[in-house]
Amino acid sequence: MAKRTKKPKAKQPPARVRRPRTRDVKDEAREVGATSSTPSTSTTKPSQKRRLAMKKAEAAVKKFHQREEESEEVRSKRRRLDALNKKKAREEETEEKHENRTSSNKERTSRARSEETVDQYQSRKSSNAARTSKARSEETDDKYHCRTSFNRDRTSRARSEETEEQYHHRKSSDRARKSRARSEETDEKRDRRKSADAERASKARSKESGAETLRRRVQDKEHKAVTRAAESAEVSKYRKEADRKRHYSHVTEDRGIARKDVRVEENYLGTMSEQCSSCGALHFKGKQPQSKQFNTCCRHGLIQLPLFYNFPKELRDLFTSSISESVEFLKNIRTYNNSLAMGSIVAHVVTPKGGGPYTYRLHGQVFHVTGALHPDPGQEHLCAQLFIIDTEEAAAELANRKVKVSCSKDLYKKLINLLHMYNPFVNSYKMMREKEEEEEILATAENRDVREVKMVFRSNKSLNPNRYQLPTAEEIAVVFVGDEDENPGKRAITVYQRSTGTFQYLLDTDKETDPLCYPLLFVDGKYGWHVNQQRQDGHGGMTKMSAREFYSYYLHTRPNFSPLHHAKKLFQQFCVDVWTKIEQDRLNFIRQHQDQLRVESVQGLMDHISSEDDGPCGKRIFLPNTFTGSPRHFVSLYQDALAVVSRFGKPDLFLTMTCNPRWKEIQEALLPGQEPVDRPDIVSRVFKLKLEELKKDLFVKNIFGEVAAWIYVIEFQKRGLPHMHLLMILKNEWKPRTASEIDDIVCAELPDPAEDQELFEIISTTQMHRPCGIYNPDSSCMVGDACSKHFPKDFRERTSVENDGFPMYRRRDDGRSVAFKTKNFGVIQLDNRSVVPYNKYLSKKFRSHANLEICGNVGAVKYLYKYLYKGTSRAAIHIYTDKNGVEHMTENEVNSYLDTRYVCAPESIWHIFDFRMSDRSTPVMQLKVHLKNAQGVVYKEGEEKDAAQRGQLRDTTLTAWFAANQRCYDELESTGMIPEDVVDCRGIYYVEMPEHFQFTKGKWALRKNATRSIGRMHFVSPRDQERFALRVMLLNVTDAKSYEDLQTVGGVFYEKFVDAAKAAGYLTEDIFYEKSLEEAASFHSAPQLRGFFVTLLMFGEIHNAEELWYRFLDDFAEDFVYKHFPKEKAEALAYNDLIVRMNAMGEKLEKWMSLGYERIMPDDVIDFDYCTKEGDRMRSTLVAEQEEVVKAVLDAVKSGGGLIYVDGPGGSGKTYVYLCLINILQGMHLKVIPIAWIGIAASLYCLMEERWLHSSI
Ligand SMILES: [Zn+2]
Ligand SMILES: [Zn+2]
Repeated sequence: MAKRTKKPKAKQPPARVRRPRTRDVKDEAREVGATSSTPSTSTTKPSQKRRLAMKKAEAAVKKFHQREEESEEVRSKRRRLDALNKKKAREEETEEKHENRTSSNKERTSRARSEETVDQYQSRKSSNAARTSKARSEETDDKYHCRTSFNRDRTSRARSEETEEQYHHRKSSDRARKSRARSEETDEKRDRRKSADAERASKARSKESGAETLRRRVQDKEHKAVTRAAESAEVSKYRKEADRKRHYSHVTEDRGIARKDVRVEENYLGTMSEQCSSCGALHFKGKQPQSKQFNTCCRHGLIQLPLFYNFPKELRDLFTSSISESVEFLKNIRTYNNSLAMGSIVAHVVTPKGGGPYTYRLHGQVFHVTGALHPDPGQEHLCAQLFIIDTEEAAAELANRKVKVSCSKDLYKKLINLLHMYNPFVNSYKMMREKEEEEEILATAENRDVREVKMVFRSNKSLNPNRYQLPTAEEIAVVFVGDEDENPGKRAITVYQRSTGTFQYLLDTDKETDPLCYPLLFVDGKYGWHVNQQRQDGHGGMTKMSAREFYSYYLHTRPNFSPLHHAKKLFQQFCVDVWTKIEQDRLNFIRQHQDQLRVESVQGLMDHISSEDDGPCGKRIFLPNTFTGSPRHFVSLYQDALAVVSRFGKPDLFLTMTCNPRWKEIQEALLPGQEPVDRPDIVSRVFKLKLEELKKDLFVKNIFGEVAAWIYVIEFQKRGLPHMHLLMILKNEWKPRTASEIDDIVCAELPDPAEDQELFEIISTTQMHRPCGIYNPDSSCMVGDACSKHFPKDFRERTSVENDGFPMYRRRDDGRSVAFKTKNFGVIQLDNRSVVPYNKYLSKKFRSHANLEICGNVGAVKYLYKYLYKGTSRAAIHIYTDKNGVEHMTENEVNSYLDTRYVCAPESIWHIFDFRMSDRSTPVMQLKVHLKNAQGVVYKEGEEKDAAQRGQLRDTTLTAWFAANQRCYDELESTGMIPEDVVDCRGIYYVEMPEHFQFTKGKWALRKNATRSIGRMHFVSPRDQERFALRVMLLNVTDAKSYEDLQTVGGVFYEKFVDAAKAAGYLTEDIFYEKSLEEAASFHSAPQLRGFFVTLLMFGEIHNAEELWYRFLDDFAEDFVYKHFPKEKAEALAYNDLIVRMNAMGEKLEKWMSLGYERIMPDDVIDFDYCTKEGDRMRSTLVAEQEEVVKAVLDAVKSGGGLIYVDGPGGSGKTYVYLCLINILQGMHLKVIPIAWIGIAASLYCLMEERWLHSSI
């Protein structure tokens, strides 16, 4: 109590008297002084008064001495009494008296202060400060908390009692004081203040736990939202303006700099020296959180996993030393590991052809399996079987295997011994072997049959996977003898004595999979990720740890030893394996939610993809667009990109930047003896950071001028190196229009070495199109016998701008050249004709292959998403046999995806670290187009109630638009006006809604933040007539309050949207066909579009075929134009392609149109190699009857021909056989013309055409 009364007192203005120095008597002295000082200042008063004052002073001195002698106890008693008296006096004080007292106090203080000299002022201040700081430094934690909480209370009490007026007054005076202080601040002071602020904040943040960080962020966000919501329009405008100014102040000078300046330093990110304060992971400088807790490694400290503390020294030496044994070990590490692994990976490894370092690249699906304890008679020892035979014998057997690269027997012996010593899984197999022997002995002794022995791995939850000690064989597995069939887990991995005929699969979710497959990495049996793994959730609880988070943690380097980053080829394999595991896990989830997806597809809640109409009838397994890399995902991205382009205009610049493995950052981060290919983690991380820097240059500094919008996608080459394709739309005043403006941005010539030697070096090493054509027919750019990129180009004196094509850049014949070695032609010189167009600034800063082109063509968007076509054109037909032996044809998007994917290590790392595969400047909102009551959601039996409660029947973007319109009109009717907080969407088209409002919780609401998005409606095939018509209506109508509203045209209600749209004049037959083609043109590749046009001609009643041909000519011929055929030739090729297609359908194009194009055939677009490969692949998957047919046809072809009739029930896989045959025959350079009069043939033809296209891009 005493403390509380004392504290505020200390803050009261001290009176100006001479007083004893000690703090203990200060208060008393002030009491005394307060009364005595008044007369002492007025010397003119009568002497009686003076005497009185003298007396008082004497008394005070006496009192002071007395008090000095009083005991601690007495003193504290007295004080408490004084305090109580005072408190009582003040409580009893009348308002008036209180006023008097405080005002006289104030007056006295202020007078004293005003008379104060500067020195006095300084000394008072500093002594106050010293006193306070001393007191605070001596303060115990308790006292500190007590004081601060008391202060807080007082302040908050005062504030809560504050009137509105007082509040504003306080705020404004605070602001004024602050702004005055800041305006008077010198630069130095400001710097000091800022750095002190930053330091304080960072200190506070470094002490924060992950949970606190999250909480702080949430609070900050909320606080910001609140202040912003409260700010007036004017203030907000002012703030934004200030933000912009601040932002631009250091940006404007760089605007457009890459058009004129080449004086730029090479970009350098520094070394990996920033350490995560939570998990110790090493990071590049780049962007980093203030708390020094990073997200990618440990999610700001939420993930903690044990590192490789128990790693045996002998094995560690093999990983790290440079002696010859170690070099040999690392060279063949995959072979050593995989032949000693107890579980093996079943996967199709496709190492890219050609030179270059080893690249682990995987194709298709991946399985993990394990075998039995003993091999089948006559078979080699596999997997764990090696560990139960004599070490010497095992090592000899392994070293003698023919298939393997030469592996040393001694090294095998050493490794086997190490595993015997440290690996609990090896010991569990030995344990099983011992039990088996025991059982044999017992059986003989007891004269009975030998009982069966099997081993089951425990899915033991009590065994903490995060602990530091080694698990023992008994902890990880249990051996059963005979009929004891207490399976410890629901689906535990079981090892049998001998092969049961099928493999024992290891699931991606089994924690034993990693240690069984990678015994040399997880030598002590450290478990991999499993489905029940937990982590902190940031709110004090625990949540599931995803596989991605788990492996991301281990894939970060730390100063501690980790075998992963030393394992070279095995590391590549591990990265790929881990990513496929994560991906398969996600796909499994999708497989389990098919019902939902099917409904979404049927009802128009997702984008239509082109193969949907062409596929076989039957079941379809969906892979939704939320799955990165799926065809639907690409369709969505592509449609979004088109929406961006149609909103902001044609793109101006097309940039491709490639990762350079020779970047300094990569080289510095490698461990001794490593190549970039050994460290996909470094490669991906460095590329990611370079990308960030590039984005900053382009979109923040605006080095090419101000940017209206941008889109980019990341791709991975066959050898795994990442590159980026980026499209930029510049603001009007920055668009390059003239030849000289183009020359400022793009250069296609070798620089003058005398002028800039550095730039010459860079360009001659990064920007030359390597010798191809006759010098190197195997070059990857070769299609047939020509370079697909048309190098070498022609010399050209000046840049010429084609109307709508690509500019031809200046390539002067100035004698400059670079020497290149070729295999068969010795050294040849490459000159300006072989320079890949570049920008000087970018090349100098980023020093990698960076191809910059002026594009001015919407078609570029298609090529940005070129793999879209690969995605959807895959013959996604699968034949499977159900339990009853009936064959089904299924379009299984999930399996198609798995079968056709290629994965390499840098891409795996990119995904595991959760880096983006694509991005764009403006968010695009996908708007649903569905018929009435079609937004329902399927739920499982027994969950109907739940579903209803979850509000599944919430409005979609479309029904909410109706509702918003309805509300507007209701308000207008009842009140005559629309309240401010109601969305007024009158006159706004459905597709424009996201530009004005935001959609949250099933409602259109007023936009709270500044980021605008643009909208686009889901793509609907014109063949889906009703929805197509609905979409057309939505494009043309505003203010619709309901479906019925849309269906009512001129007062007449139409049952069908098609009729309503026709009645409204939005959908005439001609417009229908035109719109169909327009949609298709924005969606399909040129060959697909031509196929679609042929279908329309054949099945529709088109009267204006020629008109449509000319209207979409650019789209029809686009693929040929892109291949740099002259315009006329490209058009002729496209026209001839129509003729071929018509012929294939048994029709003549002349029936619809006859134009005088030259007859040339697009023969050179067939990729024979691809056909052969694809044919072989398909053939290897055929069932016996199908193979019989294929063989018969091929034999007939070889022996000169014949007529073969194939018959089979629907769904028996005929189409698949045809496709397979077409591929094989085309691969043999034979002409194949599929002719049929049913729909399937058309789609067949389409599939082939698309392949021609994508293999030749
Ligand atoms: Zn970390
Ligand atoms: Zn070439």
